[in-house]
Parts: sequence; C-alpha cells; structure tokens
Amino acid sequence: MKTSEYLEKKRINVLGYPVDVVDKERSLEIVKENIKNNKQLHIITLNPEMIINAQKNEELSNAIYNSELVIPDGSGILLAFIIKGIKSLNTVPGIELAEDTIEYCSENQLEIALLGATEEVSLAVKERLENKYPGIKIVYRANGYFTEEENIAKNIAAKTPRLLLVALGVPKQEIWIHRNKNLFPNTIIIGVGGSFDVWSGKVKRAPAFFRTLKIEWLYRLVKEPFRAKRILFALPYYTIQLLFDSLRSLLSIKMALFN
Ligand code: UDP
Repeated sequence: MKTSEYLEKKRINVLGYPVDVVDKERSLEIVKENIKNNKQLHIITLNPEMIINAQKNEELSNAIYNSELVIPDGSGILLAFIIKGIKSLNTVPGIELAEDTIEYCSENQLEIALLGATEEVSLAVKERLENKYPGIKIVYRANGYFTEEENIAKNIAAKTPRLLLVALGVPKQEIWIHRNKNLFPNTIIIGVGGSFDVWSGKVKRAPAFFRTLKIEWLYRLVKEPFRAKRILFALPYYTIQLLFDSLRSLLSIKMALFN
C-alpha cells in the first residue's frame, strides 16, 4: 500500500496505543476540517516517552484512547511505522502543528486560549504572538500553576475559544484536557508541552542538525540533563518492547500458517 493510501484511512496500533498515519499536511487538513465543521479535536503528540509513561498511568492511557487525533511526534514512533511497512512518513512535531494552527486561526479571526507555563513565559508568549500575527484574537491566557482546576476550565470555556493550547507538560496536560474536554465541544485542543518556553525565547528548539537526524531528544538531554533518567530509560525500554512485539506478531503469523 502506498503512503497516500495509508494517509486516507489508517490508524495503527503501537504497543497498544493508537497512532494516526498522518504527515504534517494531512494533520493540518484534519484541523481545518474540524474547525469548519465546528467539531472538537483533542490532538495527542505521541512519542515513546509518553507511551512508557502511559503504561503506568491509567488516566494518561484513557486520554490517549479517547483523543480524536494522535500524531507521530518522535522518531521512535516512525520506527514502529517502518516495522509495520509504512516507510515514507516523517514525524509531525507538535510544536509545528500548533504554530500552523495558530497562523490559520489568526488569519480567520478565530479565538485562541493559552493555558500553561510560568506567568513570565505566558505573558511573553502572548506578546510575541500578538506581534507576529497582528489581529490575532487571544481571548484567554493563564499560567499553568493554578490550584482551582475546575474554575480555570470553566473560565476558559466561557470564552468559547476555537483553539486551546495547554502547556502543562506530560502527563498533566493530557489528563487536564481529558477531564475537562466536555466543556469544549467545538474546540481544537493541543497539549503542547514545552512549546511556550520555546516561543517565549526562554528555551531554544534543537538546531536543524538534530531535527534532520530526528534526534531532538539527544539535544534536550544535553541541554537539560535532569531529563536523563526519564529519556535514557524510556527510549531503550520502548525499543525493546517494540522489537519483542513485532517478533511476537511474526511468530503468530508463522504458527497460523503451519496450523
Ligand atoms: N508546567 C506548568 N504547570 C505545571 C507543570 C509544568 O505550566 O504544573 C509547564 C512548565 O512551566 C513548562 C511545561 O509545562 O512550560 C512543561 O515543559 P516540558 O518541556 O517539561 O514538557 P514535556 O514536553 O517534557 O512534557
């Protein structure tokens, strides 16, 4: 099957979690279709670390199962695609899909809400976006260090944003979205992790060299060594599970052929 045919209809299973076989263009098309049809779309930006995290966290798992679009953000997910015979896809970095969606919303005067990061970062992001996209409608902004979860959700919902970006880190943002998504029936909701830190200028995204080789995680590891324990455990553990999983599938095909 050609990649384009996969793009039309495929959602595959990676270690028990769904992933949509989409590239960046198709992801943005899906976003625009859902905006036009006034539909809700919770987008999960899946990477190996999140899968390993979800295996121990039922709420995160449920958030992934119940999301409407799961994009392959992370080269480990591409490895799973390759094992399944889908070769010509690229990762869809969540930060880039979020940027494209912001641009589309500002061109169409659609309301945007920003939740997450520190107060300083949150203010800087609002200011930078307003400078970059004159006419952008940021109807709500709050930092991610709140205590009254329910009030925050209701306050955002009262502004009926068409795009809600939640930057609380994994798994907090996915769980917050999953718990509160019933308040946002017509909203595109994306958990964007550290993207606000990047947009504010506080943190740099990995240079092109790391992005081309699809080893952004290595750059993050060097720049933020406190992530070492998480990344250095999750990546090999994920790869081993993936290889065992494909071996198991191969064996069961062979057994079926010989029976
Ligand atoms: N954050 C937040 N509230 C919290 C914890 C984290 O707003 O209670 C923010 C934090 O300031 C940062 C982002 O969430 O901007 C997490 O970024 P990180 O790069 O750690 O996310 P990841 O992509 O690794 O999940």
